[in-house]
Amino acid sequence: MNSQYGLVFCPRSGKSEGNEQLLDKLFNTGFLGEPFSLQYEGQSKQQTGYLTGENFLKLITFLGCSPQLAVVPPNEYSQWHHFCHIEIQQHQSPRYYKGLKHSKCSCPQCQSRVSKVLPDLAQWSPGSLQLVCPKCQQKTLVEDLSWRHSAGFGSLFIIIHSIYPSEAVPSDRLMELLNSGPF
Ligand SMILES: [Zn+2]
Repeated sequence: MNSQYGLVFCPRSGKSEGNEQLLDKLFNTGFLGEPFSLQYEGQSKQQTGYLTGENFLKLITFLGCSPQLAVVPPNEYSQWHHFCHIEIQQHQSPRYYKGLKHSKCSCPQCQSRVSKVLPDLAQWSPGSLQLVCPKCQQKTLVEDLSWRHSAGFGSLFIIIHSIYPSEAVPSDRLMELLNSGPF
C-alpha cells in the first residue's frame, strides 16, 4: 500500500540511462536520501523507496505553515501513510499516474476544473485522448491539461508520498534539476 496522497513529478524523459543521470543528480543535491526496504509484520509486501535527503526541505516549498513531516520510517505499519518518503517509478512505456484519489485538473485555456468530464485514463497512451472543455470548448490532449502535480504522464515518476499536492510546490532549483535534460 502506498500513502493516500502524494506530490507527483514526471520529468519528460525517454531513455533509461537519462533517468539514471537524473536520479544521481537528485541524490547528489540532497533531494533523495538512502534507499530503504522494510517488511512489516503481517504484510506480505516489502515497502521500498527512498528516504528524503538532507536538503529535501530546501528543494520543496511549502505553501502554508511549515509542516510536521515524519521522515523516519514508522515502527508500526498503521502509521505508514504519514511517512514522507520518495518513490521512483520507471516504466518501459509512458503511462498515467495519479497522486490523489480524485485528481484535480483544469483547462489550460480558461482554467475551469474539468475533472468531472475526464475520460477513463486506464488505457492512456501519448496523444490518444482529447478532452473538450465544457466551458470554453477548447480541445486539449489530457496530458496537456493543468494537473498541478496531482497526477502525471510519463515513464518516469518521482512521487513524494504523504505530501498533499496543493500543500507544496517544487522550488525553482528543483524544477531546474528536473528539467536539466537531455534525458
Ligand atoms: Zn476551458
